[in-house]
Amino acid sequence: MCEKYYQKEYETMPREEIRELQSKRLAEQFRHVYENVEYYRERCKQAGVTPDDIKSIDDLDKIPFTCKDDLRQTYPYGLFAVPMKDVVRLHASSGTTGKQIVVGYTKGDLDIWEDICARQLVAIGASAGDFLHNAYGYGLFTGGFGIHGGATKLGCTVIPISAGNTQRQIAVMHDFGSSVLCCTPSYAAYLGETLKEMGLGPDYIKLKAGIFGAEPWTEEMRKSIEKSLGIKAYDIYGLTEVMGPGVAYECSEQNGMHVNEDHFIVETIDPKTGKRLPDGEKGELVFTALTKKAFPLLRFRTKDIGVLNTVKCSCGRTFIRMSKPMGRTDDMLIIRGVNVFPSQIEEVLLKQGYTSNYQIIVGRENNNDTFEVKVEMTPDKFSDVIAEVKAEENKLSNALLTILQIKAKVTLVAPKSIERSEGKAKRVIDTRKLI
Ligand code: ADP
Ligand code: ZN
Repeated sequence: MCEKYYQKEYETMPREEIRELQSKRLAEQFRHVYENVEYYRERCKQAGVTPDDIKSIDDLDKIPFTCKDDLRQTYPYGLFAVPMKDVVRLHASSGTTGKQIVVGYTKGDLDIWEDICARQLVAIGASAGDFLHNAYGYGLFTGGFGIHGGATKLGCTVIPISAGNTQRQIAVMHDFGSSVLCCTPSYAAYLGETLKEMGLGPDYIKLKAGIFGAEPWTEEMRKSIEKSLGIKAYDIYGLTEVMGPGVAYECSEQNGMHVNEDHFIVETIDPKTGKRLPDGEKGELVFTALTKKAFPLLRFRTKDIGVLNTVKCSCGRTFIRMSKPMGRTDDMLIIRGVNVFPSQIEEVLLKQGYTSNYQIIVGRENNNDTFEVKVEMTPDKFSDVIAEVKAEENKLSNALLTILQIKAKVTLVAPKSIERSEGKAKRVIDTRKLI
């Protein structure tokens, strides 16, 4: 395949030049954060690091980590590094305690985000003239607006359909001539199935490619989506704290995602010791944002486990490649593309007068995540009247929906019927085998 690039000068930059660019940008960014984020400056003072100590990426190790808990401590705007009048957009994602985290963008930051999403689109063969069917959710979630911005900049005809109403999605694809699909991989699989259920095949629609991310998915799933929709399916990685989708992007080789190294430094560390690992060794992925100004995190610990690959890619891009995330170091679940922490569920249950005897059961049926929460009734809440139990289950399900943004099937079970554990409670049963 003849590769095209959106910003060739960066995407194919010699490694030595990338290093120099990263060094220069790191020194500037460190100074920016140090001078404008009091919380982080205090952290640096404790570690004995000042902007004069950070001259190149060789000094990266001196920079303290940032983690999700820091976002919680400083919620909502404590890590913002520009005055709020310069922030033109906010996005949000789940935090560990039920409280969401919030991030912001300047106009310049949005410009960078659009560029990196446009790089992804060009890498998979999209261009102006393509009909971009954007079925990522629009809203505080970064997926919808991220891809939307990149596609608009590239000149695609964007169809901002958002997620849901699956049969209508197929009708729109057919009528409007959608050629590139963007959504979570599970939704892509569901669209493929729906097409089949409607008695139609891939030739009913004109899709040629899809960009899917925001949750783990397997190579088998990739093959099945490619077959059911008649497309090539590509992976995209991102996270709200660092930017949103487009932090890393897959090329025609479909063999790892290129990290946009002019805008981000990626490292792998040993999650236990925090020590940096050599490229090629499996570890926790850590990102430093080099160019964004409103919410610039330095050495952010993603809790995603991955491997970096420095072998030159035959697509011509020189950016390092990261593997698909191979798991997490925390207990975060991604259910239907949404981040869910067991602690959020526990908080809701305790508030409603239940105990922490519950179980989260996640599975997959017809390429769709199933999500059930089994909750033990307490003796004083015990009822054997079906209508009462159903009403209580609905109430809990709605309370969970408010916090998690996704619907769980709640099943109340008899007191003391959930198995007690002698060690760590096994609260999550996840049978999806995604990695
Ligand atoms: P996003 O809006 O990009 O999903 P979130 O902050 O809600 O951002 O979630 C980010 C997390 O989603 C990542 O830390 C990672 O665990 C997961 N994720 C994102 N993209 C992928 C991908 N392509 N494959 C596997 N997991 C992914
Ligand atoms: Zn490549």
